[in-house]
Formats: sequence, C-alpha cells, structure tokens
Amino acid sequence: RKEKSKMPAYKGLEAYRLDEKMGDGAFSNVYKAVETATGKSVAIKIVRKYELNASQAGEKHLNPQFKKKPRVTERANILKEVQIMRGTSHPSIVKLYSFSESDEHYFLVLELMAGGELFHQIVKLTYFSENLSRHVILQVARGIRYLHEDRGVVHRDIKPENLLFERIPIIPSKNPIRRPYDDEKEDEGEFIPGVGGGGIGRVKIADFGLSKVVWNEETMTPCGTVGYTAPEIVKDERYSKSVDMWALGCVLYTLLCGFPPFYDESINVLTEKVARGYYTFLSPWWDDISSSAKDLISHLLCVDPAQRYTIDEFLAHPWCNAAPAPPPPPT
Ligand code: ADP
Ligand code: MG
Repeated sequence: RKEKSKMPAYKGLEAYRLDEKMGDGAFSNVYKAVETATGKSVAIKIVRKYELNASQAGEKHLNPQFKKKPRVTERANILKEVQIMRGTSHPSIVKLYSFSESDEHYFLVLELMAGGELFHQIVKLTYFSENLSRHVILQVARGIRYLHEDRGVVHRDIKPENLLFERIPIIPSKNPIRRPYDDEKEDEGEFIPGVGGGGIGRVKIADFGLSKVVWNEETMTPCGTVGYTAPEIVKDERYSKSVDMWALGCVLYTLLCGFPPFYDESINVLTEKVARGYYTFLSPWWDDISSSAKDLISHLLCVDPAQRYTIDEFLAHPWCNAAPAPPPPPT
C-alpha cells in the first residue's frame, strides 16, 4: 500500500516493519510495527537524539558545517525512562519489550496499545458514566499503587494522553443524550467485530519520560542509600507521590464531566487557579453526579499535599467500592 512505502526507514530497526504512526511528540514518534521474524505486533517509540534547528534545516544544503547538530535528548533521561520501565511488571503498566539505539535514534519497543489514548475517547464520548469512569480509573489507580508502593516510583505525567486502551472500544452510534452509556449495559461494552468483546478492555499507564524513583517514606532514604541529603530535598520528596494523586483527581474529574477541572485561556489565570486549587462542580454538568464522586475528587484536588489522599486512601473510598468491578478481560 502507498502509505507503507512512505514509511520512513530507520537504521537499526531492520527487524521491524513500521505500519502507521500512532503518536507524535516534539522529539519522538510512536509507530505501530510488526516484528517480521515473529509476526508480533508492537509499538515503537522512536526518539531523535539530535535535531536540526530551523535555520540549520534551511541552510544545510548550502553550508556543510551545519551538519553538526545540537544534542536534544539527554541520554541519561532516556536511560532512566528505560530503567524504570524495565523494573515494572503490572497489568496496568505498558510493557517495555526491548531498548536499542542507533547513531541518530533511541528505540523503545513497547506493548501495543491499539485502542489509543483515553484522551481521544473522552473527546468522542463527551464524558463517561460513573460506572465506566470507575472501571477506567480503578485500573489506573492500581497501576499507580503498584508504582508508588511496590516500585517507589512517581510517574509525574499522569494525564489522558498517557493513559492508553489495549484495544479499540466501539462507541455506540451518535447518542443525542450526553451520557453515551446506559448504566446497565455499559460494562458489557461494545467492540468492533474481530477486535473483541466483553468489557471496555484494559487501560494502561504509558510514558515514563518524567518518572522518578523516590524516597522510602519510613527510612527517608532514596532506594537503599543512606542519605546525606538536605532537608529541602527530603521535604520535597516526602510529598512527591502526591503529584500523581492530584493528576488522578484531574483525570477522574475530566472523565465524569468531559472537561478539565482547571482551565483558562490565559496561562497566568490558569496558573493562579491551579495554585489556589480553585475549581467548581459546574452546574448543570455536575448536577446528576453522585456526592460520593464529588467527595472523592475534593480529597484529590486538595492544595495541601499532606491532606491529599494517598493511593491507598483513594482505593478505600466508598465511591471506588460502590459496585463490583467487572471481571478483567481475558488476556
Ligand atoms: P511523549 O514523551 O512524546 O509524550 P509517549 O510515550 O507519551 O511520548 O508517546 C506519545 C504518544 O504515542 C502517546 O500519547 C500515545 O498516543 C502513543 N503511544 C505511546 N506508546 C504507545 C503504545 N505502547 N501503544 C500505542 N500508542 C502509544
Ligand atoms: Mg506522553
């Protein structure tokens, strides 16, 4: 097919056939790909090591000295992302199969999340019912509990663009009612024939590009090292896990109503709103949403990190336990 012949070829990725682009970043592209020897479908995150700046790109044919490119992607950052991903194994975390590099690129071969971003599903659906929101957020929360408690890792970039569906959920045809799923039938979900059925499918956490190993709360030491660390760093780290809990609150808010808790066209006003933790349960959108859901959100979007719910408090909240979770889809 035409598109396939247009796919770029990467030196160092000869074992794979690139199919289609799934994601775009400033310095990375994510492709759907097939490992030709095994036929296994994967996603490959390709990170450029260097970048031509605009003027260099324009003049490079004129002046060969511009071939020297500035470094854009710190090796240490990629290695940290890879190391953290290598240390994880959980159904709510995207798997890293392998890592390699060429002169120009880093390659992260990842578990394929064919359903794409939670972000796109929110855009399509407008918003999720409480049951569907619970089903999604519990999967994310269990991934966060694993990171925080078992791995000592803070993700630091939890957002709908970094939460991915394992497979494509079919959205019931244009529903004039803003709630696209009826509460009774939603857990069955609906799927494209041949892709699978039964449940909305798994949601997993991706993109460990900003993630970080943090302090052990009991011993106040960073992973096994006895610290000679300054108090401001210890204080900083003590609440570092709470950044993921704030983000989880923002995601849950957005799932339930279809728009984020903090928004303003002016970045200064937005910054001020976030700093003060100023958000509302805007009428009429929030009128029919349970007070239990609102209570949970208020314990996450709480400015004082010491007061904010931990992941265990989140998972123990009545809203999270309001209905039995549907069985996980077969893997
Ligand atoms: P960045 O650091 O550029 O944000 P990400 O790891 O978040 O890189 O990947 C960018 C985008 O690529 C994601 O938002 C998602 O749309 C897509 N993507 C990333 N990993 C996968 C994957 N394993 N399967 C499918 N799509 C993915
Ligand atoms: Mg990302």
